[in-house]
Amino acid sequence: MKPRPSLLARFRSLRWRLTFLYLALLSVLLLLLGVGQYFVAREVLFRSNADVLANDYKAVATTFLRAQLAARPRALPLTAAASATRTRQVLIALARELSSRQISAAIYDVDGAYVTFQPSSLAPDTPAIALAPSDYVAAIRRGPRPYYMVSAGDPPATYLTVLRVIQPGARPIGIAQLSVSTADIDRTLALDREFALIGSLIVLLLALGLSPLIIGRALKPLEHMAVTANAIAAGDYTQRVAVPPTHDEIGQLGVAFNQMAAGVDQAFEVRRQSEDRMRQFVADASHELRTPLTSIAGYIDVLARRDSVDASTLHAALDAMRRESARMTRLVGDLLTLTRFESGRVPAVRPIALDSWLKETLDELHLPDQGSPERRALQGGIVVKADPDALKQVVINLAQNAVKYAPGAEQDWSCFAADGRAAIRVHDAGPGIPAADLPHIFERFYRGEKARDRSTGGSGLGLAIARSIVEAHSGVIQVESRPGEGATFTAWLPLAA
Ligand code: ADP
Repeated sequence: MKPRPSLLARFRSLRWRLTFLYLALLSVLLLLLGVGQYFVAREVLFRSNADVLANDYKAVATTFLRAQLAARPRALPLTAAASATRTRQVLIALARELSSRQISAAIYDVDGAYVTFQPSSLAPDTPAIALAPSDYVAAIRRGPRPYYMVSAGDPPATYLTVLRVIQPGARPIGIAQLSVSTADIDRTLALDREFALIGSLIVLLLALGLSPLIIGRALKPLEHMAVTANAIAAGDYTQRVAVPPTHDEIGQLGVAFNQMAAGVDQAFEVRRQSEDRMRQFVADASHELRTPLTSIAGYIDVLARRDSVDASTLHAALDAMRRESARMTRLVGDLLTLTRFESGRVPAVRPIALDSWLKETLDELHLPDQGSPERRALQGGIVVKADPDALKQVVINLAQNAVKYAPGAEQDWSCFAADGRAAIRVHDAGPGIPAADLPHIFERFYRGEKARDRSTGGSGLGLAIARSIVEAHSGVIQVESRPGEGATFTAWLPLAA
């Protein structure tokens, strides 16, 4: 069974860190939302209750005052004291009218002085509810606030209070105060708080249960990538990740990861191939060197076994040994040349006027003396940047091959410029190269069938050397041949700027 990861280890995992972060954020947001919603609901409740009180006042006071004023005896003008007494009586009666089962009513005069208090019928022992006198004066002067909160009684209870200026005529005659206990509102708000709390807890629990699943699902490709990367590190370069069909960051990472894995795979493939080639090269080279060595050892054995050796046998053996050692020396020289150019070292180049240089080189070879008549068509004015000694080796190898494999046939040498490149071309009118050999003749140690038969055949390195030299000059070498129609070799080189 898999051991359960410790809490610390879990927290180190991205999935759990994201989960915790998400939950913390969600909690803060829910808290802010809850608190905000609570205060808005509270304000709405207070205002709507205050509106109810204000409407109650309007409904009662308008008809009551109109009735009272209509009842006022008009005939006899009242004295100031009598008028004040009457107003006071009207106000006290109004307070009685305004109070109801829930509403307590009080009246204050225009100076903020207490006139009367009428408790609600449901709570007759409610103590008088009073604001600061300045609140009454301010309400008369500037108009009352939407509502006031007043604390009264023992134990203290809170009352939602509304003030209304009593003004049946031109001047205000007092101020009416309607109060209602906030117990009902508090109960509603408490219920609201509970709902918000329980709702938030349910949301948090759901988030706690679901978010690791959702985040885990989103992070699955990353886990897969880690597993794949480990497999690649362990040597399985063919491993790739399944790229999610989304174009998000993880999808892009998957694509980039696979590209990197393909790059690594390719790099290792190239290395493996190059190692294979190197192994093959060492094996071939050892094989080629062993042949003359075995031959020399054979002659030595034969001579050593004889008590006396006559002069002609000795000379024949020494001649053969000299030939073998010369062959070995040539082979070692060829191998050195090949490794020099294949190591990618840039040759020591300088500008060369191709026509005069090729003429000199061919003159030195004395091809007709070797039995190969030659023709030349050398275009002037072509300059290449090349290492003349290395390039000479290319011409020698091509010429010697034509001498060897097309004995007595004419060699047509030409140099020209085409397609922004310079070319050295030789065509011999020999037997040509069999189609089966054609793709391989530039390989190291590859010899055509005829060359294999002949004891005079080369080591199979001549064309490989020619190719490595031309390629080291950023050029290419090509062959065209049809059996019976001779062979054409062309070395293409970049023109000097
Ligand atoms: P080698 O040492 O055998 O000459 P090269 O690499 O120079 O090796 O040539 C590879 C093979 O290509 C030869 O063995 C031969 O079969 C073939 N070849 C090269 N040049 C010619 C040519 N001018 N005509 C016919 N065959 C040729």
